[in-house]
Amino acid sequence: MSKRKIVAGNWKMNLTVEEGVALVSGLINKGLQQKVSNTEVILAPPALHLLTLHNLVQNSAIKLAAQNCSDRVSGAFTGEISVNMLAGAHIEYVIIGHSERRIYFHESNISLKDKVDLALEYGVTPIFCCGEPKEIRIDEKQDRYVFRQIEESLFHLSEEQISKVIIAYEPVWAIGTGLTATPEQAEAMHAYIRKELANRYTTDTANAIPILYGGSVNAANAKSLFNQPNVDGGLVGGASLKVDEFYQIIQAAQ
Ligand code: PEP
Repeated sequence: MSKRKIVAGNWKMNLTVEEGVALVSGLINKGLQQKVSNTEVILAPPALHLLTLHNLVQNSAIKLAAQNCSDRVSGAFTGEISVNMLAGAHIEYVIIGHSERRIYFHESNISLKDKVDLALEYGVTPIFCCGEPKEIRIDEKQDRYVFRQIEESLFHLSEEQISKVIIAYEPVWAIGTGLTATPEQAEAMHAYIRKELANRYTTDTANAIPILYGGSVNAANAKSLFNQPNVDGGLVGGASLKVDEFYQIIQAAQ
């Protein structure tokens, strides 16, 4: 499969604006002044940083994502940011359903469905996260678990809508733990997700949807993960906070 690769960095609740500017400037100086052949680079800083960084990444290879959005358009929802605000600020992507949002903020497949719908309505590309917790993997029920996540949040979408979604498979037991899924485990799940997408939609549509792997990706393991036929890149947490390491991960996707 020679489709584009995507490397996305999720900063989570890390870095001040000043530190974020230094990190992005470091990446641009390393070689992201212009498009990296066939690889899309996306950064998801804290929402507060988006406008400043948006100015900085103009004419570079870097695109920006929000880490979350509200499931409402506007109103009395203190602390929330809506997807139409993101669209108005020219933010092109939004991470939806990261496991930390599901675990700490009790986001359900149903509320995530609403977020996906709003993102698509306002032209912001959803990076939809799915992935099983450790106990589900131990019981070998990960396929069924992930199927429910994508079925309940995505399978109501039309063929045209699903074609605009990026999926990130992030096994919860591998996030921030230093435990990475083996390339074989990642490939097996990505192939399974693609098969279910093909069952629900068409093979062509399923093949065109990027499926990223996330969970302790680093410079040492990125290439073996990205080389798997159904792994279209990565969603990277901790290792996206270091210029050299994140740049090496981007290069591993070439
Ligand atoms: C993530 O936050 O999406 C993630 C995969 O984190 P880490 O790379 O640190 O495991």
